[in-house]
Amino acid sequence: MYSVSYEKRFSERLVSELELLRINEARLRTMIENAPDAFIVHDDKGRLVDANKVACNQLGYTREELLSITVFDIEANVDVEGLLIVVWPSLVSGEGRTINGVHVRKDGSEFPVEVNITGIMDHGEKYIFALARDVTETEKLKAYLSKLAMTDELTGLYNRRAFISTLDKELTRSRRSNVDLSILMVDIDFFKKINDQYGHLVGDLAIQYFAQIAKNMIRNEDTVGRLGGEEFLILLPNTAINEALSIAEKLRKTIENSCVEHDDRKIRFTISVGVAILDDQDMTSATLINNADQALYKSKESGRNQVTRYNV
Ligand code: GH3
Ligand code: MG
Ligand code: MG
Repeated sequence: MYSVSYEKRFSERLVSELELLRINEARLRTMIENAPDAFIVHDDKGRLVDANKVACNQLGYTREELLSITVFDIEANVDVEGLLIVVWPSLVSGEGRTINGVHVRKDGSEFPVEVNITGIMDHGEKYIFALARDVTETEKLKAYLSKLAMTDELTGLYNRRAFISTLDKELTRSRRSNVDLSILMVDIDFFKKINDQYGHLVGDLAIQYFAQIAKNMIRNEDTVGRLGGEEFLILLPNTAINEALSIAEKLRKTIENSCVEHDDRKIRFTISVGVAILDDQDMTSATLINNADQALYKSKESGRNQVTRYNV
């Protein structure tokens, strides 16, 4: 028989341990509720069993609503079975995993999330703990920076690097599907004269003017890039040589017959064009550009304001 005093001390200790557990639990709950990220817990069937305030706010549900739906309602591409099989060993070892996903609000709108997941075994049941961060702003910034790195500042066209990378991809695609691909290289004639006569600013306007005309003329699948200075490249996928030559000629004529207006002055200029086609399966983007450049040189040599096709 235990003495009364032992039982009293034992139950007092139990009470204080329970109290400690309650305090710890309350602390954890406060931390979870005030976490900057959405906290979501679901079981191995995907049923949501816990969610904090941020989760409710981000997803547009009340807590009660969240606890009556599944992770499939809020995560566009979740694969709980896959998660459990592939991720579980690393989860039970205490290591978290970060995955990128897409969360779906109650109104159906979606937003990108970076989710840190861990797993817990509780009374023989598997639970996944997820801390989801809304990365909409980060994704926007990434897209903006990547666009900035690809864009020529003066014209908004692709810069040299972006153009060549697009050309490389299109070359691979054209080779694989055995379809034509042409490129035009364009250089403004006597551009130095425009700069000298009207100033650098008007020179810039002429460059922008050409970029606009070229952009308006091409099809959706075509790409215009500024190589540098007053030199441009135009990529025409699925385009045979004759069609490329007629597009080049149309561009040349349009520029010849129009002008840049600035301070009541009409500034006219012309362009020379070189046209090259992918006619060898092993041709690289550098060779193709070089061929167009040689054709362009011939246009210049034979008097400018003309279109020349590259001939081997
Ligand atoms: P050509 O008919 O042989 O092409 O003669 P060109 O005068 O056009 O000769 P070139 O291509 O050598 O001249 C390019 C000039 O473009 C030289 C450079 O000062 C000028 N330039 C390069 N980049 C810019 C720019 O961003 N803005 C302006 N305004 N001028 C530029
Ligand atoms: Mg020039
Ligand atoms: Mg030039």
